Amino acid sequence: MTELDGTLTDLARMRSVGEPIVSLYLDVHWADEQQRERVRLFVHERVRQTLAHYPPGTPDRPALDRTLHRVLDHVARLTSQEEAPEKHGLALFACEALALWRPMSFRRTFTPELCTDGIPHLTQLARLADDFEPAVVVVPNQAGADVYEVRLGDLAVESSLRGFVPRREKDTFDPGAARPGQHFERQEKDARHQDTFIRKNRRAAAEEVQALLARTPGAHLVLVGTAGNVAAFERALPERLRARVIARLPRPREWESADGARRDGVVAGAAEAVAVHEREAERRVIEALVGEALRGGLGVVGPEDVVQAVNEGRVHRLVLEEDFQRAGWQCDRCTALGASHGADLCPYCGGDLHTVQQLGEALVARALAGGGEVEVVAHANRLHGYRGVGAFLRQTAATGLRGASPPWPTAPGASQP
Ligand SMILES: [Zn+2]
Repeated sequence: MTELDGTLTDLARMRSVGEPIVSLYLDVHWADEQQRERVRLFVHERVRQTLAHYPPGTPDRPALDRTLHRVLDHVARLTSQEEAPEKHGLALFACEALALWRPMSFRRTFTPELCTDGIPHLTQLARLADDFEPAVVVVPNQAGADVYEVRLGDLAVESSLRGFVPRREKDTFDPGAARPGQHFERQEKDARHQDTFIRKNRRAAAEEVQALLARTPGAHLVLVGTAGNVAAFERALPERLRARVIARLPRPREWESADGARRDGVVAGAAEAVAVHEREAERRVIEALVGEALRGGLGVVGPEDVVQAVNEGRVHRLVLEEDFQRAGWQCDRCTALGASHGADLCPYCGGDLHTVQQLGEALVARALAGGGEVEVVAHANRLHGYRGVGAFLRQTAATGLRGASPPWPTAPGASQP
């Protein structure tokens, strides 16, 4: 679950039969003039190539032309600045007929891509959502904790949690207070006070973090500080929250410096921790998926079986290699997808077929539109052996489709895109 889930599902449900949907992904991070020019040229060249497929006089050309020029204007505004935008990744989806114009900026970059299709190309966006699951970074201190919420690889919220402590005690433990000036006989009492004070604040901060994580399902917890501080804070957390700790990091040196550098350090530290966690999670997901498929459980691997599951609306979670490249077909009448080559007519309804150049994008859109999740994984040998795609299935009992009824609704248009 990430905050992009709603956006992905909304976009995945869009399709256009006439004027195609433009999907643009860009890396708008440039260090010099040459790189900036490269971004500009890429977009111009791709727009030119795209329009070449729509000779003047074709019905969809005028609207597509306007949309692409709007895209060019948008990119021109970005590249007219000498300084690269603070957010390095641009994703933009546009289609005049659908009144769709959705530019989105992210800290992380994308592989440059501009394409037109009947559906938006969502694989890169799905990958971003799934690689940058939200993280809550907690830096415990004597007064409570500093907390940073990192979403989609960017700092979203920064806050200080402070315990409820009488001012006098708080003053006593201000690091700037002049301790040498205090009376000797008070020191032991002060030490006891200090322990109580720190414990109370730790407990209060732990409760706040608990409330915060309850509001952010799926967020990981990253603890930063000395081993002792981190361990003490972790003990103050309930056990189910301890299970969400994915990393314990020493406080990086740059955190002592200015706010900007500290924030960058927080984001980088959290992103790295989430990335390490994600790589491990991907490995486990693939193992589990192949295991399910091999024992005939709720999993399938390979394009043919996955396409069939997608057609039947049974995909709970699509797992796709990042470099999955394969063409397929789609039925003009019932919109079923196919992975095989050489089919003439739709095996479900006998309708005519047209070629889908990027079957992966079609599978991603269909899975998301049906309420499923998409996990884009790095090139992995185990999944690659099954041609880079697999899917966890929903409990078949819910739809009763498996083997019981025709695998695909017979009424044309009865299905999702
Ligand atoms: Zn069909």
